[in-house]
This record gives sequence, C-alpha cells and structure tokens, in this order.
Amino acid sequence: MKHTKHCTKCNKNKPLSEYQARIINGVNVGQSYCRDCRATYKARIESYKRTNPKNNPNRMFVNGKYIPKTHPLYKPGNYKTFEGAAFSSLEGYEKSTEGYVYIICNPCWSNWVKVGMAVDAEDRCNQYQTSSPHRDYKLCYNKYFKDRRIAEKKVHEKLKKISTKYKGEWFKISVKEAKEIVNKI
Ligand SMILES: [Zn+2]
Repeated sequence: MKHTKHCTKCNKNKPLSEYQARIINGVNVGQSYCRDCRATYKARIESYKRTNPKNNPNRMFVNGKYIPKTHPLYKPGNYKTFEGAAFSSLEGYEKSTEGYVYIICNPCWSNWVKVGMAVDAEDRCNQYQTSSPHRDYKLCYNKYFKDRRIAEKKVHEKLKKISTKYKGEWFKISVKEAKEIVNKI
C-alpha cells in the first residue's frame, strides 16, 4: 500500500517516509509537516531565538524588523506590515498624527515621483513593492513631521504649482526638486 500524507505547511502530498515518525496507538501517522518543512521551520525558530535572545513576547516585529516601544504604532507581535498590525486597533492608526512625508519613485516612470504620507515610510514602500511585479519602487526620501497630514497637504499644494503634470499623488518633477519642497515645509 502506497501511503501518502498531506503536508499542512507546503500543501503537497508526499510519501509517509518523507515525514518524521509520530506513533499514535502503535501506528506511524507522521508529523504534520514534511521533513523539508520541519527543517525550515526549526531553522527559523532557532534563528529567531538567536537574534532575539530574550525571546520576549512583548516585542514587535514588522517584516522581520524590530520595532521599539517608542514607535507610535507599537503593538506586541509579529506582523507583515504596520497596517496588518493596526487592523485590529485602527484607532491607534487614526489617532497618531506623527509620521513621514515620503517620496517614492520607480525607474519605469522617470521624472515622476509619488509623494505621500505614512506612519512608516519604509512600510508604505514595501506595500507598493508587493503590487509591482518588478519590485522596483524605491523610497527616495522621507522626512518626519509631527503632523504628517498637514505636512503632506502643504507639500502637495506646492508640488501642484511647480510640476508640469500631476495625477493623484504622482507628480512630474525631479526627485531633487521634490526633496527641496519637502525640506522647506
Ligand atoms: Zn511540506
């Protein structure tokens, strides 16, 4: 009898021999993860323990990056993005006024820049990356403001006056010029 088992990690059906033994009532049912997945999983746990010797459950990680308690969106746990972390506590996201005005560019549209605001500029850029097959968005610049919304509004007003074209948050202007405007706010 050829016995295969579904790995709950990689979602593949593999022969039972591909699983470490787990005996229940005298029968080998195998582990839930196949050997490959188990090895990857264990290595990840080990590396997590190594990089976080205290393994403190009160720590926050976003996209693998350690976030200190002083961050306005601090919330213990492991998240892919800040928005993922904020999802269950949106009030924190709304209440916090501080953040960054950022300039994002993409080599596909040279001389166009996107200027927006975010609690965390790198996080916002990562969100753009996931929407681009080439992952070529680049965070060109970001500056911290006590009130990111007001700062963004001022920057947008100035950009609309001097850029040759604009559409939404995209402006036809050089990064250098956009940077100067952000810095003058
Ligand atoms: Zn697997």
